[in-house]
Amino acid sequence: MHGSRCRFCVAPLSSSFVDLGMSPLCQTHIEPSQLHEMEPFYPLHAYVCEQCFLVQLQEFVSPDQIFSEYAYFSSYSSSWVEHARRYAEMAIERLRLGPRSKVMEIASNDGYLLQNYLRRGIPVLGVEPASNIAEVAREERGIPTLSEFFSYALATGLRKQGRQADVIHAHNDYAEIALELGLAGIALILLFGVWWFMTVRAVWIGGEGGPFTRAASIASGAILVHSIVDFPLRTAAISACFAMCLALLADRRVPPQQETTDLRPARHLVIG
Ligand SMILES: [Zn+2]
Repeated sequence: MHGSRCRFCVAPLSSSFVDLGMSPLCQTHIEPSQLHEMEPFYPLHAYVCEQCFLVQLQEFVSPDQIFSEYAYFSSYSSSWVEHARRYAEMAIERLRLGPRSKVMEIASNDGYLLQNYLRRGIPVLGVEPASNIAEVAREERGIPTLSEFFSYALATGLRKQGRQADVIHAHNDYAEIALELGLAGIALILLFGVWWFMTVRAVWIGGEGGPFTRAASIASGAILVHSIVDFPLRTAAISACFAMCLALLADRRVPPQQETTDLRPARHLVIG
């Protein structure tokens, strides 16, 4: 990748990792009416940084091009919809929500969660950047939904209009574990956090492990940060990568150097 630099450490990028040729955007499906139109293809060529080992694509497409139309609807999963229903019922009882309350969800998808509040007469507001999904929430479920990324500007704008919420849902892996496992789940997250922090410190400050251990600490850190705003660990492929990173961190001994021929014991006697 001529002239490109690593997205993480800005070192020059030149090592090819895998070249899968040209590919259309993921989760993009062609309508029958579009069959005679051109479809954009982008190079799916991953590079690896020789400094920090981050495997990466060049950014050809901006996030709003990917997420303004998206093919994943939360309501496709019936167990998830049922979980959302029980969760909303629990929140309504515990927080004594009523027609004067207001519930918001950031990344509200097709309204799979907010519909439960609306049915009980509680005003809701969804924020969902994918405009096709936001439209389904508005049209099919009657949920007022803004098609925007949730940002500081949007938050302050809503506050100025007096549209503050009593409950804001923004779901992530941590909240899910805490909700499903209670105090035990919170204790597990805290214990894991302490282990991860101590290990990463030993790797970067204590000099333990090698370049793969450092790469594993960066990759697992990125997944942990992503988990604050989404559910990356619900995706089997991502949790498998996460488990591999943790294994590399846990077993951070540097492999012994292979013996070279010079170090082999001599086979002949030296008489002197
Ligand atoms: Zn790098």
